[in-house]
Amino acid sequence: MAKRISVVVSQSPSKNPAKRKLEEDIVAGLLFENGIDVTIVPNLYDIKPESTGMLALRQIGGNVVVVSWLFERAAHWILDRNAITGHVGEVLLKNEDEDEADSEEEGDEDDKDRVIDSRSLKNRKIYCLDLKISNRAEDFIDEVKRIHQENAVQIVGLGDIINGGIPKPAVEPKLTSIGDSDLSSTGSGLDQPSVVNRVEESGGRRWYPVIDYSRCTNCMECIDFCLFGVYGVDAVDTILVEQPDNCRKGCPACSRVCPENAIMFPQHKTPAIAGSSDGVASMKIDLSQLFGAPADGKSAEELAALERDEQLIAAGRDAVGMTVGVPRRHEDKSEQSKDDLDDLVDQLNDLDI
Ligand code: SF4
Ligand code: SF4
Repeated sequence: MAKRISVVVSQSPSKNPAKRKLEEDIVAGLLFENGIDVTIVPNLYDIKPESTGMLALRQIGGNVVVVSWLFERAAHWILDRNAITGHVGEVLLKNEDEDEADSEEEGDEDDKDRVIDSRSLKNRKIYCLDLKISNRAEDFIDEVKRIHQENAVQIVGLGDIINGGIPKPAVEPKLTSIGDSDLSSTGSGLDQPSVVNRVEESGGRRWYPVIDYSRCTNCMECIDFCLFGVYGVDAVDTILVEQPDNCRKGCPACSRVCPENAIMFPQHKTPAIAGSSDGVASMKIDLSQLFGAPADGKSAEELAALERDEQLIAAGRDAVGMTVGVPRRHEDKSEQSKDDLDDLVDQLNDLDI
């Protein structure tokens, strides 16, 4: 029996009518597709780990397509950090800049140990589609259908395809609210109609860091830098966000000190901090321009220390400036390049040209 695919639609936290309409148009378009189960949830980032919404998402087995207003990376690692794991599924619907950034990243592999190398992931794919890429529902519906087809083709026999492809539904789609439905017992085959589940929750907006383990090297600079007890380690000493709600609203300070750009704040207005792959690639060109404040000449670390001081003072504590947990990479790097330049000049002098 061919497998169905689950589509999770994560709603915008803003209730913007245009955004709502796009979400609803996508759901409406998927309703009459065979073998697709749709779950509508509030903004993924805001859902608490122990909530009904997250429990419902954990029940989903098999490959999943997540449609959200978050950058792909952010959506993937929010799910992962909530024990909804899987391998990154390749999405073809993306903006051109991100496409280029992805290929740059692929060609830039190094030999550093990343946290992801030591973790076992569920044997399935998670495809994250970013709703910011297009305002046309058809673009997302087509991409979901392409992914579904790709997955179905791997499972459906060649004969099925030759004889007319995936069959169309014979019955109407079914709509349920989360209270009525067990996600693990949705339809069983491609010829079954869509099932739509809607999770209603009002937990309010949240603000906390999300770690991308495919970049994180477990260096612990973030835990040294944060003075609000947000970070911790697990039983095998791997960094994690232990007390997310201790994080200070609006502050992205630790994302500026992470040497691997592995920390995201998905609701931050700067794409590089919110999880854009485009931003991550550009950081290689000039990290300080994205994470620092070039206009007033501050390094990323200086800006991070200022932001942290602001939060310490707001919490009634003393500012610490650059004296606690701030790595001195920039200074080291400029010293290093100065030394390299001096060496080069010496060598040229020796050549007597
Ligand atoms: S600073 Fe970045 S790379 Fe280092 S442990 Fe924290 S998240 Fe990982
Ligand atoms: S933004 Fe500030 S409070 Fe939040 S985790 Fe980072 S350093 Fe800690």
